[in-house]
Amino acid sequence: MELLKRRIEQDGKCYEGGILKVDSFINHQMDPRLMYHIAEEFVKRFEGVKINKIVTIEASGIAPAILVGYVMNLPVVFVKKKQPKTMENMLTTTIHSFTKDRDYTVCISNNFLQPEDHILFVDDFLAYGNAALGMIDLVQQSGATLAGMGFIIEKAFQDGGKILREKGVRVESLAIIDDLSDCKIVIR
Ligand code: 5GP
Repeated sequence: MELLKRRIEQDGKCYEGGILKVDSFINHQMDPRLMYHIAEEFVKRFEGVKINKIVTIEASGIAPAILVGYVMNLPVVFVKKKQPKTMENMLTTTIHSFTKDRDYTVCISNNFLQPEDHILFVDDFLAYGNAALGMIDLVQQSGATLAGMGFIIEKAFQDGGKILREKGVRVESLAIIDDLSDCKIVIR
């Protein structure tokens, strides 16, 4: 997606340890127009795929997910990082956070992830695939079907994309970063 690639080149910043900072337009300050184009691109890429619900993980997946849900006219559910006392029929899984380097337990209500659901998972980044694998676990626990996974940015030099594609998951990434070493952003 050209618009996104140009924006990453213009405003993205590279950090030690293979971290790309896009907090001026994606995951802190947000550009809603760019996010809308991102959603339209996801919708185009998953055209013809049976989907009835969008699922993401808080916090940075919510903005793109809600716009995809808006364009597709489908409900959006986000996996929570804190377990509310009032959640009914809670499903949980443990995810290792790449940026925070710690494990945390996330949850979703089985009420909103049902066996008849066909899920499109949307998130901002695909790095090692830990969040995505946690999502796959929750989908399996619920008996729902995973229709596909869409990421705004995939870092191809980390292994998440490889792991998910080898599992047969339909993965669509709108910008693929091949390298971040020497603090240079190499976009495919
Ligand atoms: P994974 O679970 O695939 O290892 O990492 C995905 C999650 O970690 C994303 O939801 C995102 O929040 C965070 N993340 C991974 N790599 C980066 C990065 O380079 N920059 C930022 N800002 N977040 C990242």
